[in-house]
Amino acid sequence: MLVLLNLDVTKEEIDHIYERITGFGFVPHMIPGETRDAIGITGNQNPAAKTQLEVLPGVWKIMPVTKSYKLSSREFHPQNRIVKVGDVSFGDGNVVMIAGPCAVESLESTVGIAKIVTARGAQLIRGGAFKPRTSPYSFQGLGEDGLKILATARQETGLKFVTEVVSPDDAELVASYADMLQIGTRNMQNFRLLEYVGKQGKPVLLKRGMSATLDETLMSAEYLMKNGCNDVVICERGIRTFSDHSRNTLDIAFIPAMKKVSSLPVIVDPSHSGGKRSMVIPHSLAGIGAGADGLIVDVHDNPEEALCDGPQALLPHEFEELMKISKGVCAAMGKTIGR
Ligand code: PEP
Ligand code: MN
Repeated sequence: MLVLLNLDVTKEEIDHIYERITGFGFVPHMIPGETRDAIGITGNQNPAAKTQLEVLPGVWKIMPVTKSYKLSSREFHPQNRIVKVGDVSFGDGNVVMIAGPCAVESLESTVGIAKIVTARGAQLIRGGAFKPRTSPYSFQGLGEDGLKILATARQETGLKFVTEVVSPDDAELVASYADMLQIGTRNMQNFRLLEYVGKQGKPVLLKRGMSATLDETLMSAEYLMKNGCNDVVICERGIRTFSDHSRNTLDIAFIPAMKKVSSLPVIVDPSHSGGKRSMVIPHSLAGIGAGADGLIVDVHDNPEEALCDGPQALLPHEFEELMKISKGVCAAMGKTIGR
């Protein structure tokens, strides 16, 4: 923390500021400036100190020099964190492909789609059993029956699955079935939910809030990590902007920016970002090009009748095409994709 002093600060005021800083158990270091002096502080572990110091006479303003996120930061953990879901690793140079329906609709369709994506190289299955829908009249998901269906799809394909937790009440139930727990965009700042989910002992896919900054996203990751979950994967899924040509705006800059300050893997959801089938491949390639560690893609064999997000679901042959084109981009970057 840096305490910037007023231009006309007096010797008495500086003495008093020093007294308060040492009183907190911190060490002050005077930094003379050309126009303005400052006091650098080390050893500051007390979150209340900033507010108490900034009101002292002679203080112009306080500048934090370290961020409030720690466990998720690259400063704390310089190497990339590798997050494992079974034998699938995020962050080790392979672009992980997660694919499946937006929602679990029935045993037949879910197992069918799971087989389709498995045969084309997916490494994990996706599908919502508890759906966070904007309208209370929309399909809300099959709940525990949906989890059972996903468990059957896992058995039939050998692939592990990720599914969303929408409420602290369901966290334990979902964790008893799922291999990876998803926090959706609408719940990124549901802090009680993050605490519950962090305690479940499962890797977590944390989707960026649709209006969340990079720092806010990392603070949410911090909630998970503080509660015992070191295996967090961040997902850029598009944010709300004034653009109306796509469902959301895929924030490509978020990927390298996040990877610079945090060692957590970052993946892209090219389905929820564009909201249109035609945008999924371009968004995927852009994400891979920007350094994403994986993709999570909606796939459906009959999107016209899908109960959720049909317009953005790839058809099986389009998913095959995505795998094929992505391989080229990945190869150019010295990476691989899928199985
Ligand atoms: C989803 O992945 O099923 C989903 C609801 O996505 P988001 O939370 O990003 O809208
Ligand atoms: Mn969806």
